[in-house]
Amino acid sequence: MSASFTSKFSFAFLSIGILVGFQANAQETPKPPKMVPEMTEFWEPEPRKVTPGVNNAAPSDAIVLFNGKDLSEWKAKGGSGDAKWEVKNGAFTVGKGDITTKKEFGDFQLHVEWSAPDEVKGTSQGRGNSGIFLQDRYEVQVLDSYNNRTYSNGQAGSIYKQYRPLVNAMNKPTEWNVYDIIYTAPRFKEDGSLFSPARVTVLHNGVLVQNNVDLKGPTEYIGLPEYKAHGKAPISLQDHGNPVSYRNIWIREL
Ligand code: MG
Repeated sequence: MSASFTSKFSFAFLSIGILVGFQANAQETPKPPKMVPEMTEFWEPEPRKVTPGVNNAAPSDAIVLFNGKDLSEWKAKGGSGDAKWEVKNGAFTVGKGDITTKKEFGDFQLHVEWSAPDEVKGTSQGRGNSGIFLQDRYEVQVLDSYNNRTYSNGQAGSIYKQYRPLVNAMNKPTEWNVYDIIYTAPRFKEDGSLFSPARVTVLHNGVLVQNNVDLKGPTEYIGLPEYKAHGKAPISLQDHGNPVSYRNIWIREL
């Protein structure tokens, strides 16, 4: 059979097919059913119940990372030693090295309250510097950014050296600040290369400062970030030599 015979033969069948189909269509195709409200409703699964916290208290399904009394959920970073930051009046204050949670996390919602030192000392990165390292790698900057100019992607609410905060929502050093952080962990392929970057949303005192930004990789002080595959990891707090205080820390795994 020649190619041209086959194609003519196929064309003839196709034409007949279309014609028959067209006629059948015109006569028999049932009209789509009329939509009613129930057609776009689903009932399962039902969202489980969570009791919200009053005045920023932990919701019922949160893991409390600081209860105002002790640092039992934390340890010194880079070892198994105790976290030695001073706990006083329901808060704890930076000192004696970085600390890290004993538990590890993937995707989460994190609530952290922090206060820059009441005594205003130093300038730029030297004033009230600390940091919250998501999965021990990605820093949401903590800094006294109340009347304290520094590089924009290094001020409070920045993803350090990657994204500036959209606005400066900083409270005075004598007042507390609140961070609510929504974090999606990066995903990696089997060969260790990046499948999807980490994503972060940050509200600073209820004001959106990071809107679901794609992180470029782990925080680097010098040079460009580069992802390395990792799994669940802890939350770490930075000792930058300034007595920043923290209180009321809780996390919800997502
Ligand atoms: Mg810092």
